[in-house]
Amino acid sequence: MDLGTILLAVLAFIGAVMAAFWLTLIIWTFRDMRARSRDVFAQILAALLVAIMFLPGLVIYMLLRPRETLAEAYERSLEEEALLQGIEETLVCPGCAARVQTEFVVCPACHTKLKKSCQNCGRALNMRWSICPYCATPALGGVSVQAAQPTQVTPAISGGFLRRAQRAPELPPETPPSPPTEQAEQAEA
Ligand SMILES: [Zn+2]
Ligand SMILES: [Zn+2]
Repeated sequence: MDLGTILLAVLAFIGAVMAAFWLTLIIWTFRDMRARSRDVFAQILAALLVAIMFLPGLVIYMLLRPRETLAEAYERSLEEEALLQGIEETLVCPGCAARVQTEFVVCPACHTKLKKSCQNCGRALNMRWSICPYCATPALGGVSVQAAQPTQVTPAISGGFLRRAQRAPELPPETPPSPPTEQAEQAEA
């Protein structure tokens, strides 16, 4: 075996490795671009860039390729949508710009009326609604709503209390005790 044959074999081996490396880079670039762009022309162009210019071409591709993949872009759009919905859900009071929740009937900070209550079923209605969507009763505006409002406000302050009062409406403790004491006083006098 002379030196020439050995050199040739080494060169052939290096050439084969480089060819494999070159082909791998072209395939990788094509796949990478396909994950970042739906444009077939751009995919082929990126692969050609690496095929013709090899490593410098790869550097150029890495610099110019779209920053995020299609999957990442899709995920980001989902996140943005979710974020936007979150912003829409956090409502603010028209009176004092304090944060209020969608179920709030009045603003806890400035007492601005945020909802009116249905005359029939008592559920909280949007101020703009002209009909109750729960029981189809036409919603009344203005005075009647204000009259119905205090009954709607007290439950919001003391939650469980109202539910008990609604179940047993004949339990007002203040009214029954007063007549007996008056009668007792009269009896004593
Ligand atoms: Zn307010
Ligand atoms: Zn109703």
